[in-house]
Amino acid sequence: MSVIIDDTCITCDACLQNCPVNAIVDDSENPTGENRYYVQPEKCIECVGVYDDPQCAAICPSIGCITWDMPYSKEFDAHFVNGETYKLGTKNGVVKSPSFREKKYRQDIPMEMRGVGKEVQVAPEELDVG
Ligand code: SF4
Ligand code: SF4
Repeated sequence: MSVIIDDTCITCDACLQNCPVNAIVDDSENPTGENRYYVQPEKCIECVGVYDDPQCAAICPSIGCITWDMPYSKEFDAHFVNGETYKLGTKNGVVKSPSFREKKYRQDIPMEMRGVGKEVQVAPEELDVG
């Protein structure tokens, strides 16, 4: 990761259907217990090598709902392990944190664009068409 879904999610299912690596679970399976869809950061590859942009954000009808988060790299291990935002899966009792296995991420997305709440999707009126 990754990208993250915020509380403006309307549980429409579009993102789940479009994720190439099945990284998204629905509200009934959201491990945080919140009533929204959830991106499993330990699975998300930011669509690297499959699409040019995160397909979940591209199809999401709730503009701004899906935002950039930090890369799923060892540098940000504490961010994903200690945050209340995530409930990482485990394998043989070991938490699948970035130290366990890093994931691909969009290297062209700079750090200043990352962090919970940084939009992936830009509303049409915000695009610089000039
Ligand atoms: S960015 Fe791509 S890989 Fe990650 S959750 Fe969205 S669709 Fe899936
Ligand atoms: S596409 Fe957007 S609104 Fe629909 S379930 Fe996914 S995050 Fe929620």
